[in-house]
Amino acid sequence: MSIKKTLHQQVLERQDELVRLVSDLLRIPSENPDGEQLTVIRFVEQYLKDSGIACERVEVSSDYPCVLAKMGSDDGFSIILNGHVDVVPAGKREGWKFDPFCGDVVDGKIRGRGASDMKAGVAGLLFTMRLLQESGAKLGGNIRLHIVSDEETTGIYGTSWLCANGYADGGDACLVAEPTSFDNIEIGQKGICHMKLMARGTPAHGSIGNYVGDNAIIKLAKVLIHIDDLTQVPGHFGSHQAIALENSRYIARQALGEAGQNAIDHLTANVGMITGGTKINMVPDYCEAMVDMRLPIGIKHEDIRTAVQAMIEKSGVEGVEAELEFKAQSNYTDYDAAIVKTLHGHAEAIWGAAVRPAYQWASSDAKYYRELGIPTIQFGPANLGGIHGYNEDVDVEDVVHSAEIYMLTFCDLLGID
Ligand SMILES: [Zn+2]
Repeated sequence: MSIKKTLHQQVLERQDELVRLVSDLLRIPSENPDGEQLTVIRFVEQYLKDSGIACERVEVSSDYPCVLAKMGSDDGFSIILNGHVDVVPAGKREGWKFDPFCGDVVDGKIRGRGASDMKAGVAGLLFTMRLLQESGAKLGGNIRLHIVSDEETTGIYGTSWLCANGYADGGDACLVAEPTSFDNIEIGQKGICHMKLMARGTPAHGSIGNYVGDNAIIKLAKVLIHIDDLTQVPGHFGSHQAIALENSRYIARQALGEAGQNAIDHLTANVGMITGGTKINMVPDYCEAMVDMRLPIGIKHEDIRTAVQAMIEKSGVEGVEAELEFKAQSNYTDYDAAIVKTLHGHAEAIWGAAVRPAYQWASSDAKYYRELGIPTIQFGPANLGGIHGYNEDVDVEDVVHSAEIYMLTFCDLLGID
C-alpha cells in the first residue's frame, strides 16, 4: 500500500486516540478571559514531545504563550498550521445540560466548551502531525505548527504577534483549523471599521427641554434611524472571484435568509453601544454611538466616508460628526491556490457532498497570514450552534473526517504518495 493510503488508514484505525485527545483538551479549562492558559499549553508541548516532534515556546506574554513546532526539511513547500487553545468563558452553569469541562462522548458527540471552537481542530492538527512523524515519511517540505493561547480576547499575544515577528515568513500555505462546517472552506473575510458617531448639542433645564436647548441624544437618534442606508454600499469583486462570491451568497442565504446574502458583498453596520447625557433633568449636550462596520472585499475607504456623510446629511441635523477607525482590511485567498484546490477535492471525496470555498462575514486570525501574502484557508470540525453559547459539542464523525482531509491534503502538498 502507498504511504499516503497507509497514513489515511491509520487516521481511521486510530480514531479513538484522536477522540481521546479532544476529550483531554476539553478537560483542561482555558477560559479567556479570566482562566489560565499554561496547563493547556504544557499539555500540547507534552503531546508533541511524546510524538517525537521538537517544539519551542515563544511568548510576548508569559500568561499567553505560543507553542511552535516544525517537522520536515528546511526547503520545499512550507505549510503553516494554526490553532488556538483558549476558549470563551463557559458562562452560567445553569445554561449547560452537562459540565462544560467534562469532555464526555455521548451519542457520537464530544461535549465541552471549546469542542468546536476549536479544540477539535487543534487535536486534528496534532494527531495528523503525530502520525506523519511516526510513519517516518519523507516530507517534500515542512509543516510548521503555530498554537496560540490568545485569540478570544485581544489576540495581541497570539497569531498577530507571530506574524509580525517573522514566525510565518516563508510559508507557502496556511491552514487555520477554526470551525467552519464540513461543507464550507473559508477563503476570505470582511474587514472591520469602527465608527464613532458624535452629536453635540446645547444644555438647558430638563423641565423646559422641548422648548430650549438642543438635545444631542435626539440629534443622534435622527441620524441612527438611517443606519441601514450603509448596507447599500457594495464591495468590488473581480471575475476570478465569481465562483467564491456565488458560494458565499449561497451560504449566507441558507444561514440568514434571502436578504442576508447581501451581508457578504455589502457593508454592514451595527450600532453596538450608545452613551450620552449627564442627568435626567438636563438637556444633553453630547451623545455618541459606536458602530461596528464590516467591509466587503474591494470596498474603498472613500466609498464608506461618502456613504456616512450622506446618511448624516439625510437626517437634516447639524453638529453630528463621524470618526472612522479602520481596524482590519478585507482579505482573501485565490480560489485556485494549491491549498484550496487540494483540500477542497479531498473534502468533497470524504464527505461525498458539495463543499464550497467561500468568503465569510466575520473576521479571524487568517487575516494575519494573508497580510503576509500566504494563501490561507480556514477549515475545521464544528457544530456552529454551541459556539460562544451553551452546550457546545462536536460530532465524532466530523472530527475524524477533518483529520482524514488534513492528512490527505498534507500528503499531496508535501509530495507523499
Ligand atoms: Zn476560534
